[in-house]
Amino acid sequence: MKAVVVTGVSTGIGHGLAHTLCQEGYRVFGTVRHPGQAEDMRGSCGTNFVPLLLDVTDRDAIAKAVAMVEAEVGPHGLFGLVNNAGICDPGPLSVQSPEAFARHFDINVTGALNMCQAFLPLLRRCDAGRPGRIVNMSSMSGKIAYPFIGAYAASKHALEAMSDSLRRELLVYGVDVVVIEPGTIDTPIWDKAGHISTSFTDSDYAPLFQYVNLADNRKNAQPVSKVTAKVIEGLTAARPRARYALPDKWLIYWMLPRLLPDRILDRLIDRALKLSPLREKLKS
Ligand code: NDP
Repeated sequence: MKAVVVTGVSTGIGHGLAHTLCQEGYRVFGTVRHPGQAEDMRGSCGTNFVPLLLDVTDRDAIAKAVAMVEAEVGPHGLFGLVNNAGICDPGPLSVQSPEAFARHFDINVTGALNMCQAFLPLLRRCDAGRPGRIVNMSSMSGKIAYPFIGAYAASKHALEAMSDSLRRELLVYGVDVVVIEPGTIDTPIWDKAGHISTSFTDSDYAPLFQYVNLADNRKNAQPVSKVTAKVIEGLTAARPRARYALPDKWLIYWMLPRLLPDRILDRLIDRALKLSPLREKLKS
């Protein structure tokens, strides 16, 4: 049975991915942070699922998880590691706390690297005809930096760069690194991020956030199944692409923002967010 480690399976994409992989006959070692979630996952995924209780910022807990996985998979090694765990805590960079900013990097970047380093020996040992593979969950924000999610975008840009360096370094072991770049996906990440209207009431941007409820993003979002299909393609394809993008709309949210000169994109964002009245108010 091919074994895959997936981080952050308590909700959202990781939750869906763990279930799909288990249904497809994989042995899934999924990370959760609370014992109750471990029990829930065991109940809904069945015996193919093994919970790993860890926070991706905790290297001691990760080392214990490696020992546990190694005891289970033995000489067969690990078919895949999916670094899916992540946070998005929106806010204007000019006033966001350094702690909130740094937490994005601790979890979204260093957390993923912690997992890669710890599980690399088991990935190298994979006996499925090729070494195991790493799939890193980036985002459209790994390529395009929209305002008010700057910390998240910076961390996902860093994850993209880290994945490229790692992929090139791991060529010597044959361990491939694949990046997934989803657009807006229907998961609880948006409910968790929905507080922007109440968190920055003292900032100059408060009028912009007044009616923003990020949880509304779920209404027109893509289903989790779209991402899980791409992750599985990344894990199993004979010749996977280095990145799989899943933008909401190819032309306007993916191609154009990356092709347009930065100053033009700035102007379009200025207009779309109706920054002009706020600018005038702040001048007076
Ligand atoms: P969710 O909030 O539903 O899931 C995030 C998962 O990460 C949860 O299981 C959470 O666990 C876990 N997690 C958070 N912090 C840590 C930590 N320190 N250690 C271990 N696990 C942790 O969000 P999504 O499913 O939407 O997000 C999954 C990934 O997909 C993220 O990397 C996100 O950036 C990315 N993504 C999501 C998009 C979207 O629109 N939803 C779009 C593009 C990318 P817990 O329950 O304990 O907090």
